[in-house]
Amino acid sequence: MTSFYEITWSPEPTWSSTYRVSRRWHLPSVEQCPSCRATVGSFLTYPTVDLSELPEARELKPRPASFEEYVRLRDLVRPYCPPGAPLEPGTGLGPLGGSTRGKWGAFTLVDLAALFVREDALRALENLRGIVPVWPKFRRPPAPAVAELQLLPHGRLAPDCFPPGRREPCAVCGCDGEMRPLHYWADPASLPTDLDAFRLADYSGIIVVSERFASVVRRFEPNDITLKLLLTSRPPGIQTPKRLDGNAAIIIRR
Ligand SMILES: [Zn+2]
Repeated sequence: MTSFYEITWSPEPTWSSTYRVSRRWHLPSVEQCPSCRATVGSFLTYPTVDLSELPEARELKPRPASFEEYVRLRDLVRPYCPPGAPLEPGTGLGPLGGSTRGKWGAFTLVDLAALFVREDALRALENLRGIVPVWPKFRRPPAPAVAELQLLPHGRLAPDCFPPGRREPCAVCGCDGEMRPLHYWADPASLPTDLDAFRLADYSGIIVVSERFASVVRRFEPNDITLKLLLTSRPPGIQTPKRLDGNAAIIIRR
């Protein structure tokens, strides 16, 4: 099996780029799921989505809302989204926009969970699979330009990263009430074989790239990101965590 890597922040950034960006539209987060009572948000984003023709688009702001309100807006935007795309509470839609200054590295993590690629590095990714760039709407675009990659949700953490008795995802909101474990590894059977960049479906803040993608990243060093091998089995010496008493009331899926 090929190796996969998680993209994380570099502890020592070397590039001067600064930015202030926001996404054009957001599904609201859900204050309290009517079934499991969790507060639910997500790092899922679909920057290719264009809702400028949707009259209700002005309601699509990052805000807490009732479950019914979230469902109403989710069903309105679904026809504009990639086929089959999960639309969790808090999903970001449309391109990022804003302002930027300074020089960008070839690969940069932006705004917690968006991956930006400089145009020369984008050309080097040309033959890879599932690379969908979206150009942010900067008031004064940098030169060279940078694009955000649309990262679809695929793959999951292995069940044995979690304490025994992990719940099935809530049938209403999809949340399973689990925080991201301190030590984690992916379920190898769940990882896609036809994509070189994606985010995990159950922890959408985790961005994953293939060995082919990682080799392009290395060609453009230094970058303000770090490649961390995504484990696909339990590392030696790591025990299955024990379940603590009590229920987590606030779950942000990262
Ligand atoms: Zn729920």
